[in-house]
Amino acid sequence: MSPKQLETHYDAIIVGAGAAGLSASLGLLRSEAYERMRGDGREPRILVLSKLQPLRSHTGSAEGGIAASLGNIEHDDWHWHLYDTIKGGDWLVDQDMAAILAEHAPATVIGLEHDGVAFSRTEDGRIAQRLFGGHTVEFGRQPVHRTAYAADRIGHQILHSLWQQCVREGIEFAEEWYVSDLVVERDDAGAAHARGLVVLDTHTGKVHGIEADTIMLATGGAGRLFHTTSNSWDLTGDGMALALDAGLQLEDIEFVQFHPTGLAHTGILLSEAARGEGGRLLNADGEHFMDRYAPGHGDLAARDVVSRSIMAEVDAGRGVADPKDPDGPRDCVWLDLRAVGHDVLEKRLPEVCATVRQYAGRDPSRDLIPIKPTAHYTMGGIPIAADGNVYEWTGDARRPVEGLYAAGECSCVSVHGANRLGANSLLDACLFGTRAGEAMASRIEGTAPHDDATAAIPSVADAANLRRRAVDSLLTSAASTEPSDDDAGAGEDNAYRLMADLGAIMERHAAVRCDHDGLIKALHAIECELVPRAERLTAHSDTAAYNQEITAILEARHLLTVAQAMLSAADARHESRGALFRRDFPERDDKGFLAHSMTGPDRVVSWQPVAITDYPPKSRTY
Ligand SMILES: Cc1cc2nc3c(=O)[nH]c(=O)nc-3n(C[C@H](O)[C@H](O)[C@H](O)COP(=O)(O)OP(=O)(O)OC[C@H]3O[C@@H](n4cnc5c(N)ncnc54)[C@H](O)[C@@H]3O)c2cc1C
Repeated sequence: MSPKQLETHYDAIIVGAGAAGLSASLGLLRSEAYERMRGDGREPRILVLSKLQPLRSHTGSAEGGIAASLGNIEHDDWHWHLYDTIKGGDWLVDQDMAAILAEHAPATVIGLEHDGVAFSRTEDGRIAQRLFGGHTVEFGRQPVHRTAYAADRIGHQILHSLWQQCVREGIEFAEEWYVSDLVVERDDAGAAHARGLVVLDTHTGKVHGIEADTIMLATGGAGRLFHTTSNSWDLTGDGMALALDAGLQLEDIEFVQFHPTGLAHTGILLSEAARGEGGRLLNADGEHFMDRYAPGHGDLAARDVVSRSIMAEVDAGRGVADPKDPDGPRDCVWLDLRAVGHDVLEKRLPEVCATVRQYAGRDPSRDLIPIKPTAHYTMGGIPIAADGNVYEWTGDARRPVEGLYAAGECSCVSVHGANRLGANSLLDACLFGTRAGEAMASRIEGTAPHDDATAAIPSVADAANLRRRAVDSLLTSAASTEPSDDDAGAGEDNAYRLMADLGAIMERHAAVRCDHDGLIKALHAIECELVPRAERLTAHSDTAAYNQEITAILEARHLLTVAQAMLSAADARHESRGALFRRDFPERDDKGFLAHSMTGPDRVVSWQPVAITDYPPKSRTY
């Protein structure tokens, strides 16, 4: 599938081959604009670049399901889905965008079914739906079966189906190519235009500059910022850092969702479906404590609420130790799946059962399972409009970045606000990914076909030369570096250690709860210790081909860039909302902070109003 030789110019490059990138590719190819172009004899050049083989994208790990008011089990209404999304997001949701999400959710799920997703079925053959936290009927009255699922392997189904459709359409993939730079130019009026990418072919170690009229970032989240995370190791916030490094902003980047049920010590996700199917959380006294924190919603309250409740139990001394480390910290609580029953466990939660057996050595139908909150999802990201076009906030208006699009977890279309509801992110990635692909096709149709005789764009060539020299110097220093006694010296240090140290700092100061002092300590440690260490890193082998350490160094630097933006935005928000809980500002403050943070590369935070169309803010306790 990998092309031997890439072109120097493409009409469209999509970076990322998860749900968002693959949906965008299909959206582009299946659009009316694309059909018209082909009808006119024009064959746009399109490329999907991915640092992983596409089927290794994190989308494949999604377990629980995808939300849509199909109403297959009980009556449902997309307005209720909209309301739950807004309320779950603690009113930091742009309601016009969430309306698109909720209204088009059923068509998105049916579209996935047509593309081959093998959903679990009801007795009468319709797509089965399960309970998920925060999804209710009649504006919060009681939980609703809204989440379409495929046992607990929805992501695997979606990723494989979309990828197979892409293969069928003949989409060109460049697999295991790492995008290191996004080239954006500014015109005399200050408006930004995307021009191209700098890409490292990890197979050869060669750096290429590639021009593109339209570029899409679909690079996923940044869970690796934290030591305990449900995310795969590749989720290093690359797209977000590429945007910041190109002088663009991130929106609401302070909001990181901690999923309540990460398996102790590993952080591996035990899907919310486990509680949807009847699992309960117990403290050290055997008390079902969620009834106290969220009466009427209990274990299926929104994720931020459940994560904070777990931490409150731990702080009150009612936590339990991981049985694998009985003398270790009592920083877990129990997940009790015993009442779910062996048959339901095996049929509907096979992945959860396998994970518990394999990594905890416990039997979910007989044993209690130790869990703790795990970094799961970045609500914020690269700001986009409804068609996926990236924009900048100038202080009083949005200004589009010409030719640049984004979708999926790296982006922020403001449908998740301060806290995403479970099963809404696959929906976001597929729906807004498709829309972005369609918008890209329209843009390509509106531009003249590329003339290969046109001179190369100097900014792209310059950025590629700069990166080429930087990679060469990582390799040549490897050849000349002697092991050093200094622990943090270039010879001893490495990107993996640096990422682990960053994860520990972020976990200590910014996980689930934070305050000004901790955030400043974390920022200081990153600026004064980790960034200089990252600058000094070199590879330990001077072989360019398949040198994974080169990629890891670039990833570590990207993580540091995102971490600094995240901590700065968290420090600027003097309130608690959704997933951001400030110990020093424990209340939500709608007067001061019902606004999206927009954090630039200089880490200056400005504020953009929230679009409130139908549902004025109310208090939120669960
Ligand atoms: C364990 C787990 C379970 C989940 N369960 C659910 C669920 O049940 N329901 C739900 O709605 N959501 C769930 N989520 C969230 C959801 O799966 C993700 O938000 C979503 O799949 C993200 O899709 P994406 O396309 O944005 O990114 P990803 O699937 O992460 O793909 C990112 C892509 O970008 C590429 N990439 C990244 N950086 C670069 C670079 N520098 N150069 C080139 N390529 C790059 C990668 O190769 C990859 O192809 C879950 C998440 C996790 C971690």
